[in-house]
Parts: sequence; structure tokens; C-alpha cells
Amino acid sequence: MEVTLKDLTKIFPGKGKHAADVVAVDHVDLQIPDGCLLGLLGPSGCGKSTVLNLLSGLLAPTEGKIFFGDQDVTDLPPEKRGVGLVFQSYALYPHLTVLQNILFPLQNLRGKDKLTKEEMLQKATEAAKLVQIDTLLDRKPSELSGGQQQRVAIARALVKMPKLLLLDEPLSNLDARLRLQTREELRRIQNETGITTIFVTHDQEEAMSISDLIVVMKDGKIHQIGKPQDIYDDPQDLFVAKFLGTPPIDLFDGYTKDGKLWIGEEAVMDVDGDYDGHLTVGIRPEGFVPSQTGAFTCGLQRLEVMGRDVSVVCQHPFFIGDTFRAIIDSDDIPKVTGSTIRFDLKPSKVYLFREDDEQRILFD
Ligand code: ATP
Repeated sequence: MEVTLKDLTKIFPGKGKHAADVVAVDHVDLQIPDGCLLGLLGPSGCGKSTVLNLLSGLLAPTEGKIFFGDQDVTDLPPEKRGVGLVFQSYALYPHLTVLQNILFPLQNLRGKDKLTKEEMLQKATEAAKLVQIDTLLDRKPSELSGGQQQRVAIARALVKMPKLLLLDEPLSNLDARLRLQTREELRRIQNETGITTIFVTHDQEEAMSISDLIVVMKDGKIHQIGKPQDIYDDPQDLFVAKFLGTPPIDLFDGYTKDGKLWIGEEAVMDVDGDYDGHLTVGIRPEGFVPSQTGAFTCGLQRLEVMGRDVSVVCQHPFFIGDTFRAIIDSDDIPKVTGSTIRFDLKPSKVYLFREDDEQRILFD
């Protein structure tokens, strides 16, 4: 099912005499294609959970509309929206078994939706199989690992075959390995069911790895929407460029003049564009190519060998911060003597941003 947000806004009134209102979601327009796994990404407090709560109907918008397909669901109560929800805390019923937990949403169906016992059991078993916990049906939540508990929560959300699945930081209580494994599982389950899914996280790597589309939010606004690789390769502004990528993009103070990009006293690259003046230069760590005759001279601190790659830790007076990292292939480890290293820059990995509004400046 396609989901559309039109001019969606949520303002929480300030509490107390002097408290300002909080604009948690600020005129958001978004179209989510049918069957898409969308990663909603942004720093803490940017409005991700509020968007999910508006979609589920737990919150009413201050302005704007929500459509499921062609249907305007803005005023529809949560139970009539056909949405499955999974939160960070699994919120399983501790006194019920796994099977009883999964059956629970079905037992609440009334009227024409009411199911027989056999039908309920069949649906619950199917959902349990999908998340591979069908051998644990008689256990209580306290007898399961964190990853298994999270799967039960997902099965419980899937058992009614929702039209939309909303996952709010579903992996954050899991340890690193389980997190990696469970995110692959989520991708598989989503592929198998084809349910339009929105996955909220503040972990850019997690969002990049499993999403069809990513939405990057800040202060209640959408900064960019696109495929993960497209957003990484083509960030529209400095915020998005900084938010995606590990290690993060390296930022320098620089300027353009007469077709050259300058950092300090070195012309580091040719640039063909209309802009002459000061700007912020972003270089992805993989954009540095060590070369004896390189145009960009940096202070070398140390090399960190990390298997396939080598991280070259450097300093530069115009770097914004303390030290920065260049990532190079371990086959290309440069022979360095002394305390400096020179790089050529890969133009496709260099991004220029205005200093005032932090928007990207395009160049050839
Ligand atoms: P996190 O990643 O930390 O969960 P988030 O991106 O999900 O953050 P939201 O929970 O959507 O952010 O909150 C967005 C903003 O709205 C925050 O400034 C938050 O303090 C505020 N907010 C959320 N819920 C309420 C509420 N019920 N009353 C008042 N302010 C709220």
C-alpha cells in the first residue's frame, strides 16, 4: 500500500508559562511507494517517532493529511488503520506464552473480522514461522533472548497482516552481533511479506544497509529523500553529508578562486563553477589518493591497518576539528618518511557547501 503524507505538522503546546510550543513535525510531504522499506533517519528529537505515531493514529496531526492508498485516514482511529507497530521495548505480556502473545491481537477482533480458534492458531503459527520462533511457542518471554523477544514482537505485529508496518528503533536493545543478524532478518521478512514498512533509527549504517529509500530528518523537516547510495553520493546539504558515512566526511575551511579550490595556501583541485568565495569543503575519507606529487599536503599522525583498508590519521590547520581520516586500500599503503603526506583528491568525493545556509554548491 502506498502511503502519502501531505503538509503533515504536529505541534506540541509548551507546558508552563514560559515554555515555547514544540514543532515536532514541520510541514512534511512524503510519498512512500507500495512495498517499500523506508528508513526514517535523523538525530534524537528530530521528530521520527512523532511521524510514526501520526501514521499509527496514536497522535492526531495539528495540520495536514495522511493517505493510505487513496483513503484519507487522518481522522481514523488506530484500530481501524490496519497498522502493525513494533517499539524499541518489546512490550510483551510477561505472564503469557509466546503463542498467547502472538494470538493476542487476533483475540480482540470483533464483528465481521472475528476469527475461529483454528483460524487464529493457523495465523499465529504462520507469523511465528516467518520470524523463525515456531519452536519456542510454549515459552514465556523471560525464557527468551533479547533477539527472540524482538521476533515475538514482530510476529505479534505481523499476525493481522497489516497494510503498514511501523518499527520504532526495533534493534536498539540488542547487542552488536544480534543487531546485525536481526536487521538482515527484518529485510528478509519484509521481502517475503511485501508489506510497506517504515523503520525508524538514528543509526545511519543500519538505515543504509536495509532500506530501499531513506528519509533524513532534522528539526521536524525532511532534508533529503532517496536511495541510500544516492544520498551518500549526492548529499543536498552539509547536514546530510555529515550524517551519512563511517568514518564521517572530513570537513575543511576553504575557498574557490579562478577555477581552483584552495585549502590554506594550496590549490588542491580544479573546480568549474560560478562560485568564488569561502566555503566548507567536505571530502569523503575514500576521496584521498596518496601521491608523492599530490596537491594537498597534510600532517601525518599514524597509519592504522584495519585488514582490507588502512586508515591514515592526519592533521591539517584548516581541518574543522582535531584529526581526520583518509581510508585507502591496504595494497596502496604509501611509503611515508617524515611527518607529512601528500594526497590528490578524487573530484567525485569532494563536496562544497555554502558557509551561510550550508547548501551544496555544484561544480564540474
Ligand atoms: P528519539 O530518536 O530521541 O526518539 P525522535 O526523532 O523520535 O527522537 P520525537 O520523539 O518524535 O523525536 O520528538 C520530536 C520533538 O517533539 C522533541 O523535541 C520532543 O521533545 C517533542 N515531543 C515529543 N513528544 C512530545 C509530547 N508528548 N509533548 C511535548 N513534546 C513532545
